[in-house]
Amino acid sequence: MQCGSPLTESTTCGACELFPLPFRQVRSLWDYNHRVAEAIRKMKYHHIEPLCHIFSHILSHHVGELFFLRDWDLILAIPTHRKRFASRGFHPPEIFASSIRKKLNHTARQPPLGALKVASIHPPQASREQHERYELLQDGFSANPNKVRGKRVLLVDDVLTSGATLCSAAFALNGAEAKSIDGITLARSIHWSESRAELWKHSNL
Ligand SMILES: [Zn+2]
Repeated sequence: MQCGSPLTESTTCGACELFPLPFRQVRSLWDYNHRVAEAIRKMKYHHIEPLCHIFSHILSHHVGELFFLRDWDLILAIPTHRKRFASRGFHPPEIFASSIRKKLNHTARQPPLGALKVASIHPPQASREQHERYELLQDGFSANPNKVRGKRVLLVDDVLTSGATLCSAAFALNGAEAKSIDGITLARSIHWSESRAELWKHSNL
């Protein structure tokens, strides 16, 4: 399904029918359970870069199973503000994206600079109330039409929680006339399915 929820007997997903996404498909490798959350927190907030390389290896190894269509022209990491990059020293989504490009022998290994940018600085999502996250939806990112128009894009992030970050980037890419957008993350939280109605309300789909 579009949102990546496993289907039981039905062949359609209720949430995707009611609240369509700006994506062709969104896929995650793991559920964001206690153990996974702990490991990802260590990677992000204790700045453990080797852990990030292990994750990127695993994620790129499985990308072929997660997507039927791997026709991407651009494989883009969700960008971070350079101040945050400076404090962490590395940016997990970019390491994941680079590993996926390598694995797929991607012709455009290095996507054009500035294809997708952070539009404004805001505090890390972990410190925000959920309703505030949706307010970031409309202006979180900006995409350069000269670099993304007509392109099939795979967006890469570490965790899919409310979906606000990934959707916000997808809206920016849609606005810049990207041809199609897929999303991949290492882990997916249960908030993802719970927040679909909220996401829908705050989007202009
Ligand atoms: Zn769905």
